[in-house]
Amino acid sequence: MVRGRATLVVPQMAGRVPPPCGIIDARRVIHLSPTRVFAVVTTMPPPRDHRFLEPMTDRAELDLSYMSVALAAARAAGAGGEVPVGAVVVRGGAVVAAEANAMVAQRDATAHAEVRAIRAAQAVVGDARLSGCTLYVTLEPCAMCAGAIVLARLDRVVFGAWDDKAGMVGSVGDLLRHPKLNHRPEVAGGVMAEECGALLRAWFATHREG
Ligand SMILES: [Zn+2]
Repeated sequence: MVRGRATLVVPQMAGRVPPPCGIIDARRVIHLSPTRVFAVVTTMPPPRDHRFLEPMTDRAELDLSYMSVALAAARAAGAGGEVPVGAVVVRGGAVVAAEANAMVAQRDATAHAEVRAIRAAQAVVGDARLSGCTLYVTLEPCAMCAGAIVLARLDRVVFGAWDDKAGMVGSVGDLLRHPKLNHRPEVAGGVMAEECGALLRAWFATHREG
């Protein structure tokens, strides 16, 4: 069997920088146009071999682990009487900030997890701009937090539960991908949405009626 390294570009990724890929069966690569290459990853070699895991899979696994850190921060905040939302800023594979809602403790309506995590990360990084950083948050950011994300120039945002009432990353509106803004981070929503949403529902069931 002839095998060779090739660039794997799935249709929705056309136009982006193609990710590096594992070894694919060169005979199954079909060039359909100069800009699009459709390829099917061969079933061999075994997928658990780290050399052959696709980058997106690696990133998806990392997303789960960092979202788990954000969830832990959210749980701790919930136990302290705050609405349980947690946020983590990651740069270069390291967590540089992990914060949670503190609106009750700080008597501050703007003390959302994302804003607090962004401020903490800026202090650690020593820069107002968080280029190269990813923000993980357990709930879809509101308008204020989405604005802060744009101002801080975060590269990527990963959020958990959708917020039908206040979410500004697709639910009520979409500030992060507004075509007129000059910074549009990459967005991934619904990561561990069940866990993140269940935590909020349980908290509200206990702390608030209706
Ligand atoms: Zn917010």
